[in-house]
Amino acid sequence: MAQQDEVFKKIVSHAKEYGFVFPSSEIYDGLSAVYDYGQNGVELKNNIKRYWWDSMTLLHDNIVGIDSAIFMHPTIWKASGHVDAFNDPLIDNRDSKKRYRADVLIEEAIAKIEEKIEKEVKKAAKRFGDSFDEAMFRETNPRVLEHKAKRDALHQRYSDAMNAGDLNELRQIILDEEIVCPISGTRNWTEVRQFNLMFSTEMGSTADGAMKVYLRPETAQGIFVNYLNVQKTGRMRIPFGIAQIGKAFRNEIVARQFIFRMREFEQMEMQFFVRPGEELNWFKTWKEWRLKWHKALGLGDEKYRYHDHEKLAHYANAATDIEFQMPFGFKEVEGIHSRTNFDLSQHEKFSGKNIKYFDPELNESYVPYVIETSIGVDRMFLSVLCSSYEEQQLEGGDKRVVLHLPAALAPVKCAVMPLVKKDGLPEKAREIVNDLKFDFSTHYDEKDSIGKRYRRQDAIGTPYCITVDHQTLEDNTVTLRHRDTMEQSRVAIADLHKLIHDNVSINSLLRKLA
Ligand code: ATP
Repeated sequence: MAQQDEVFKKIVSHAKEYGFVFPSSEIYDGLSAVYDYGQNGVELKNNIKRYWWDSMTLLHDNIVGIDSAIFMHPTIWKASGHVDAFNDPLIDNRDSKKRYRADVLIEEAIAKIEEKIEKEVKKAAKRFGDSFDEAMFRETNPRVLEHKAKRDALHQRYSDAMNAGDLNELRQIILDEEIVCPISGTRNWTEVRQFNLMFSTEMGSTADGAMKVYLRPETAQGIFVNYLNVQKTGRMRIPFGIAQIGKAFRNEIVARQFIFRMREFEQMEMQFFVRPGEELNWFKTWKEWRLKWHKALGLGDEKYRYHDHEKLAHYANAATDIEFQMPFGFKEVEGIHSRTNFDLSQHEKFSGKNIKYFDPELNESYVPYVIETSIGVDRMFLSVLCSSYEEQQLEGGDKRVVLHLPAALAPVKCAVMPLVKKDGLPEKAREIVNDLKFDFSTHYDEKDSIGKRYRRQDAIGTPYCITVDHQTLEDNTVTLRHRDTMEQSRVAIADLHKLIHDNVSINSLLRKLA
């Protein structure tokens, strides 16, 4: 674990050093859990968004996008349940003065028991070799069974407490499980309290007339309250979907782990409207499709897993998370929820407006059911960054840090470099840049040795480097260097466009989903 912490620290400092992510307001010592994206970060982020947006709106002729406002009528948050129920249970340690989410402390304790089970299985697999029957071992080994029983009992107790909103019981679980504060190492805990995660501000110019409004904690509600506008003006027929990318704000109690948990972040959400009774089939379809979207990036299939929810939010009848293996464990990157007709029915009730859909095939009106896919741009960014980062030991004692970013997401697609700064090579290199820049983000670099220039591009994940040398002036060929293999080949300038395009376009990813 310590080694993974070390790697994570390096990734965070790499992200800053190479213009991906900066702490917000850094010259004023930063603002907790708020970050800015730098010159390379914004490109990577935009490419992630483009991949998601195009996969939704281009590949599905029944999905369209919108861009709704961050401020919305405050009653929306009453209707959605966020004013009354968007709470996290928090607990403080009196010695370290650190604040924690009580549910997270307990979930971590459950995860620790699960780790023990996995350790037993790994140990046995090593001991028994090829003859190891894992399924049988999991079913019969007394130590595994003991851990499982403990885990299940704890899980049940925790679910019951959460479902009942029983804060005293949550605290009691923390005490009974002897959970200690990771900072002070003590069990000197306060009571558990509820804390609403929404930020609020005032809209209007006079104190009397001002209205309390919230910064949206999710983008979904902007889609719900517009669904009928889109359906009617777009002549959409159920099933259909509405996609949106936008900022969301949550006053997170514990904001740690870099851009994993932020107070201002971005979501990519798609609400899919279906006939009542068909939602669970659609839930399954979207669950599979979203995992396929992730896997098409080639970060490693083994880095993903589903986590099906046993404790469902008040509005859901099925929910799963897609988790990704971060350096600090498997963590949620995306949620897929079957939200029933809860939100739309609530808006109908609170607004007093009829927002039913008329289904011409059934010749009846109903409130549609909704499947939602909700992914955090920043968490997605973090998963791409973490799985791409590598420190490589090269032959001859040399080292390099390389980001093996999926080429279609890389901030810079190619860098053009004259071998030397004279003899007409810079001019030739500029000519190539001027041709490629219309289609790809292209860098020109003539400073330092060629080796140093390659390293700089490796560090930001540029898939291709193009070197212009004296031979180029004679036969119009260049050296094309590949980031991951460092292999170099001689290619004609005329072929560059096609060679690069086939690998770096968002299309190349989208085609894998078709
Ligand atoms: P968590 O349990 O980690 O707090 P959540 O279940 O509350 O997350 P959702 O409400 O389902 O998250 O939001 C959908 C997605 O939005 C999440 O999968 C995540 O990628 C992203 N997200 C949620 N909260 C944050 C945050 N504070 N910072 C960054 N991304 C977030």
